[in-house]
Amino acid sequence: MNWTDFAGWSRRFADWTADYHRSLRTRPVRAQVAPGRILNALPDAPPEIAEEMEQIFADFEKIVLPGMTHWQHPRFFAYFPANASPPSMLAEQLVTAMAAQCMLWQTSPAATEMETKMMDWLRQAVGLPDTFTGVIQDSASTATLAAVLTMRERALNWEGNKAGLTGQKKLRVYASNEVHTSIDRAIWISGIGADNLVRIPVQGPNRAMNPEALRAAIQADIAAGHLPAGIIACTGGTGVGASDDVASVVAVAKDHGLYVHLDAAWAGAAMIVPEYRALWTGVDGVDSMVFNPHKWMGAQFDCSAHFVRDPEDLVRTLAIRPEYLKTHGHDGVINYSEWSIPLGRRFRALKLWFLIRSYGLENLRQRIRNHVAWSAKLAERLRGEPDFEITSEPVLSLFSFRYAPAGAADLDTLNQRLVDAINDDGRIYLTQTLLDGAKVIRFQVGQFDCTEDDVAYAFDVITEIARNMEPQ
Ligand SMILES: *Cc1c(COP(=O)(O)O)cnc(C)c1O
Repeated sequence: MNWTDFAGWSRRFADWTADYHRSLRTRPVRAQVAPGRILNALPDAPPEIAEEMEQIFADFEKIVLPGMTHWQHPRFFAYFPANASPPSMLAEQLVTAMAAQCMLWQTSPAATEMETKMMDWLRQAVGLPDTFTGVIQDSASTATLAAVLTMRERALNWEGNKAGLTGQKKLRVYASNEVHTSIDRAIWISGIGADNLVRIPVQGPNRAMNPEALRAAIQADIAAGHLPAGIIACTGGTGVGASDDVASVVAVAKDHGLYVHLDAAWAGAAMIVPEYRALWTGVDGVDSMVFNPHKWMGAQFDCSAHFVRDPEDLVRTLAIRPEYLKTHGHDGVINYSEWSIPLGRRFRALKLWFLIRSYGLENLRQRIRNHVAWSAKLAERLRGEPDFEITSEPVLSLFSFRYAPAGAADLDTLNQRLVDAINDDGRIYLTQTLLDGAKVIRFQVGQFDCTEDDVAYAFDVITEIARNMEPQ
């Protein structure tokens, strides 16, 4: 393809992008295809002869588009959002055009220095003290893995990478049952082992780890000859928004010299709004924290903000410096590949710069405040219906509910059928979770283009479909 043709197609795709976004409300949110439909529509063998872009694009519209679930749909209320705001998409176009590998300072000084500055903007935006420094990771899962590896190395006096875990005391890590499965995987991958992830019971409306149970578990492990390494707390758990009492977790950790990592992957973005920061009181005392600007904040996936109190601990855990990676003569520069698990890195900071400048923090805050208010309003409307129950109170913009008409016997089956019926209908998209073993339906407001009318429309769709379901 020559650059003249490229420019023509780029202009066409820019128009397509705007039309796509403007027409999203006319499309089903969740893809309405049976498994295998796209696979079977694609040729079995690669083409030997070049094809026209016109044909490739036509096939994209015909084969691919119907198989997409529309994450940018304003009526996407499932999981958590993955917002791609227009300015962040534009920045990604420039990043794609330059296609740089930003592993070292010298492989793109602007990418490194932009990352340093943007992470400091984000730090200020969410109200963290300047004792924290940040790095952009591809996902919260990666940031949490880096944190668990750091806790492991710290506990082993920096010998784990070299000597392995054989013959060591059992390393122990503490978390509640409300944390994301990325914590389980970090524990597996780090070699600590699922049996050594100690689950601390939760208490109260926030479903927070019981600090006394946490202290008792650590002391019992020490008495048994184990080696406590760290604690993973959460602010805004994935299921129903569970939030640990960070201050009390940090206090217990301090007494035992343990590392604390905080997973605020979703809720962290809301901390740009000062009145919501009570949810993570004590965050100043954690050793590391992750939140995803690619969820609620509007920075196109992928962009995870990983903050650490002591970058030396992270670099000591992850940095490998073979000869070809040494940047001779440039001591004092940051090579972010030493702060992360993959070597190669995309230029992710540019979209934060475009996003934050083109909205300003005040617009981003207002959007989140709206989402929280609209979600609360919907929860109240559902609570007012005799055949619906609110099963967990709103945490920011997330709550859960279930359909519980009088006389219904098996509410778990009924509510799974309701979620499936809603998603097959396609006007809105929701997901379910288990709350103390019971099936409940999650509702979160967070899509960038969502309006108050879209949330009100969800009430109509949910109640209509529930009441029209066939009896079991
Ligand atoms: C989304 C989420 C994660 C996983 O985030 P990735 O960036 O997809 O790895 C982890 N923890 C919580 C609480 C989340 O909401």
